[in-house]
Amino acid sequence: MTSTTRTDQRPKVIMICNGCGREDVLADAWASWDAENQRWELEQTFDAGYCNDCQRECTPLAKKI
Ligand SMILES: [Zn+2]
Repeated sequence: MTSTTRTDQRPKVIMICNGCGREDVLADAWASWDAENQRWELEQTFDAGYCNDCQRECTPLAKKI
């Protein structure tokens, strides 16, 4: 028996800067160290972010594509 959660039916979005509307944004996030794979694994992302265009903190907004 499988219990797959279907999340692939949601419309795709892009994340844009709430200041300039461009896509060059980063999200604040936490990552935890995965010793087995020797890399950071994303744990959680937050509403706040950073825009590379504005070069300041912003709030990335989801926009349907
Ligand atoms: Zn921006």
